[in-house]
Amino acid sequence: MARRKYVVGNWKMNGLTAALGEAQAIFDAAKAHPAVDVALCPPFTLIGPMLAAAPGAAVGGQDCHSAASGAYTGSVAAAMLADIGATLVIVGHSERREGFAESDADVKAKAEAALAAGLSVILCVGEPREVRESGGAIDYVLAQVAGSLPADFDASRLAIAYEPIWAIGTGLVPTADDVAAMHGAIRAKLGDLADSDAAGTMRLLYGGSVNAENAAELLGAGDVDGALVGGASLTAGKFVPIIVAAS
Ligand code: PEP
Repeated sequence: MARRKYVVGNWKMNGLTAALGEAQAIFDAAKAHPAVDVALCPPFTLIGPMLAAAPGAAVGGQDCHSAASGAYTGSVAAAMLADIGATLVIVGHSERREGFAESDADVKAKAEAALAAGLSVILCVGEPREVRESGGAIDYVLAQVAGSLPADFDASRLAIAYEPIWAIGTGLVPTADDVAAMHGAIRAKLGDLADSDAAGTMRLLYGGSVNAENAAELLGAGDVDGALVGGASLTAGKFVPIIVAAS
């Protein structure tokens, strides 16, 4: 079965309630592109209000804790996200791996907790600039995939986002050929780690400075099933053209 395109916005730590109109405009525009699955991951504080503004929309978290509950001040459990209507969560974003010292094992535990709570998961991987420059990007990312992949998973609820760290928020992007090579290597690795059905079903997203101008080329690269978008997901004016490019 063909994989549906998937375009996900990561609002990071941006957005007050005044921004909900942008989300409404994004989800309204997405209705004209039913072949594309569109989701937004705002800060935790906006998940409930965004769902109230756009009932039935795919809204998710940017992180979750691996424990179900407990003394983890400031953290949010996957079941709490599901409880307020979120349907997905991002785990392993490089800003969490780097800024909060999250290891592959941490990311794996979060992904497993999220799947157990009924959420879909976007698991992020990606190499730093020096690794790309030294020619080790594919080995580095495949090791992240092997270390972060849940022990057991339904491939229809797990997507991998390849986000080279040097491309995030910088305006730099890999060539379409480099993206295709990385995604092909990830899909082959999934075949080894899981099975060919899972490898064929799982969606692989590209993330890192995707915008209206480069979206068609990046989304057209081999084995790219969608995009994880940061800065350009904050307004309908910038995000909707990316949805259009995916359709
Ligand atoms: C991201 O942080 O996931 C991301 C892809 O950011 P940007 O699109 O701003 O590079």
